[in-house]
Amino acid sequence: MKLILLGPPGAGKGTQAKRLEESRGLKQLSTGDMLRAGAEAGTALGREADRIMKAGKLVPDGIMIDMIAERIDKPDCQRGFILDGFPRTVPQAEALDAMLAKRGQKLDAVIEMLVNDAVLVDRIAGRFSCAKCGAVYHDNTKQPKVAGVCDVCGSKDFKRRPDDNAETVRARLQAYHQQTAPIIPYYKIKGLLRQVDGMADVDAVTRQIEAVLEDL
Ligand code: ADP
Ligand code: AMP
Repeated sequence: MKLILLGPPGAGKGTQAKRLEESRGLKQLSTGDMLRAGAEAGTALGREADRIMKAGKLVPDGIMIDMIAERIDKPDCQRGFILDGFPRTVPQAEALDAMLAKRGQKLDAVIEMLVNDAVLVDRIAGRFSCAKCGAVYHDNTKQPKVAGVCDVCGSKDFKRRPDDNAETVRARLQAYHQQTAPIIPYYKIKGLLRQVDGMADVDAVTRQIEAVLEDL
């Protein structure tokens, strides 16, 4: 199964993608995580991406398309994948269609997570994650069950993203509405778009997504 989780920053894409990895054996492909790994490794591309991410802008399409084209051929994607953070522009969506068609593959669904902008700012400001396994937490709504210990892997090391601050969030939301939202009608016309209420609690969102997948 090949899915896109679509929604603004903070909508809950990463949270739900990790659950789908567990429940369905699909691989989460987060382009944001890939770029952050490049930035940490200090590659030339990583340093350039780091500058763009901290400004809340989008990394050029060509770079992102090459990154995904190379990734979907890896063995861990053979059972299917969940794209989280890609595509983010119409040219990226078109390139994805072309790369899947070339491989005799196609998307099963694009699941849009609907969340109000006002809520997103709070979600992003409170986000932190496990530095080892990437499990996502929140200061107010999702603390680890044992304080300071990751529920999933037991690590005591947590991190926050440098772009999760009020100023950058505004730029990221603007980029979403101006550059990413046009892919919603693109997928609607193709009959692939499904919508879920991303304002519901995490378990309720999971149930909605599972219902969509059962219906395919
Ligand atoms: P995205 O990957 O779309 O940027 P995340 O999955 O990282 O979003 O979630 C952003 C923040 O919101 C995290 O701190 C997460 O714990 C929290 N969160 C995710 N889904 C929900 C939800 N349904 N209700 C409340 N908080 C949520
Ligand atoms: P995310 O982790 O999805 O919130 O992405 C973090 C940042 O990485 C974004 O604000 C962009 O700067 C960059 N990024 C991630 N995915 C893409 C993409 N598909 N196209 C362009 N930029 C991206």
